[in-house]
Amino acid sequence: MSKSERTYRNYIAGRWVDAADGRRLEILDPSDGSHLADIARSSREDIDRAVLAARAALAGDWGRMSATDRGRVLHRIGEGVLKHVDLLADLEARDVGKPLKQARADVEALARYFEFYGAAADKVHGDTIPYRSGFTAITLYEPHGVTAHIIPWNYPMQIIGRSLGAALAMGNAAVVKPAEEACLTVIEFARIAEEAGLPHGAFNLVTGTGEEAGAALSGHPGINHISFTGSVATGALVQAAAGRNAVPVTLELGGKSPQLVFADAELDRALPFLVMAGIQNAGQTCSASSRILVEQSVYEEVVARMADAYRKLKVGPALSDLDVGPVVSRRQKDIVGGYIGLAERDGARIAAQGTIAPDAPAGGAYVKPTLIRDVSPSHRLVQEEIFGPVQVIMPFDSEQHALELANGTPFGLVCGIWTRDGARQFRLARGIHSGQVFINNYGAGGGIELPFGGVKRSGHGREKGFEALYGFATTKTISIYHG
Ligand code: NAD
Repeated sequence: MSKSERTYRNYIAGRWVDAADGRRLEILDPSDGSHLADIARSSREDIDRAVLAARAALAGDWGRMSATDRGRVLHRIGEGVLKHVDLLADLEARDVGKPLKQARADVEALARYFEFYGAAADKVHGDTIPYRSGFTAITLYEPHGVTAHIIPWNYPMQIIGRSLGAALAMGNAAVVKPAEEACLTVIEFARIAEEAGLPHGAFNLVTGTGEEAGAALSGHPGINHISFTGSVATGALVQAAAGRNAVPVTLELGGKSPQLVFADAELDRALPFLVMAGIQNAGQTCSASSRILVEQSVYEEVVARMADAYRKLKVGPALSDLDVGPVVSRRQKDIVGGYIGLAERDGARIAAQGTIAPDAPAGGAYVKPTLIRDVSPSHRLVQEEIFGPVQVIMPFDSEQHALELANGTPFGLVCGIWTRDGARQFRLARGIHSGQVFINNYGAGGGIELPFGGVKRSGHGREKGFEALYGFATTKTISIYHG
């Protein structure tokens, strides 16, 4: 892509179209603040068109396609994604600000989702239920119909993969509204899906702001299911809109995920996970591990070793491919900077920070990765999602204390437990309030195969793995009397 000169359109019913009223939005490169591209600024009318196109696809070729053929199309999409790995990685790096190696990993994850759900498309089948004499009762899994997908800016490709991949595998048609801050790879993805032979209208893409396009989509009466990934505040609005139309909604919201480190843990193995899970994607990961809880007897040692690792972290432009890129925007930089300022103001201590490369452009949204200690469990730094490269590290005295701290926030997305004691692993895994638990490993969000989602304010419903397919389906029960 040549920088600064791209104008992207909506993709509706297989056609590339401007917003109905012709408005556009500017997209900025967070590495230097320069103009990267323009996208369509869509409104209700564009959403209406996209929903109609999706409905028509269900009544046409897409709705009639066998599950096996749907799977084949999805597979071809996965292959197409891998064929364009360089283009997609470069674009994602520029658009989100993530280091190239992370962006490449995201492209591979996007392809993997389509491989996984392509292979799964014809493997979802219902039951035969023992019922009354003279009857046969069966269940069918059917698509909801038109599904809405509202995507955040932090992992556009991964999130489109997990949400759209499963929805299409089940035979739904989709309208996608990516985030206004970063959505260019989702638009390029639409070209790849088209080349792979996805029937027109099965996937429609409408860009724009949350308040206009997002709200119009989530409140649209023609939508049958909403999959939302984003903040708690917006999730509540989306759920209320879904409620007005009585449609199901999956909410993947934020987190404040802990990793618990016991004195018997294999520290050499744990350390890279403790740090990476906090700073990956500049901490802008819903399942980032932003709280490190350490048994008192090894607390100082773990602080010292993490601080060492922090001092070596280098921050710079996405295409320089250092450890950490910029955060997504100047606005996000200010928010994260405000939290780091709280630590200084309220008597917590900064254990260590990374460094910003001297040649990082002044217009970029750079934040030093920051490790904070001596902070009270009720402090905002411990209770609120910061969404930047900031971790707090806190001591605990006992297993019970560790559990209380781990469960002591409004969130429950992911938890990591580092101990060699097998019984403790299971006690804690059962006692933790979160959607995923990793023992002696931590995979922010986990693999494509692993059901993922939250409890408490982290949301509800599950994506990823086979379980996501059932979320994108509705069960029909058929009872036949044959005597
Ligand atoms: P956000 O809620 O501001 O935006 C998410 C999406 O919602 C965007 O596409 C936005 O345009 C749209 N939106 C905004 N207002 C809307 C409205 N009134 N109606 C409908 N749609 C609207 O969140 P964000 O800042 O883009 O993302 C950051 C948040 O997302 C963090 O809290 C993070 O934890 C969460 N997140 C969660 C997961 C997960 O899987 N659990 C993954 C990524 C991000």
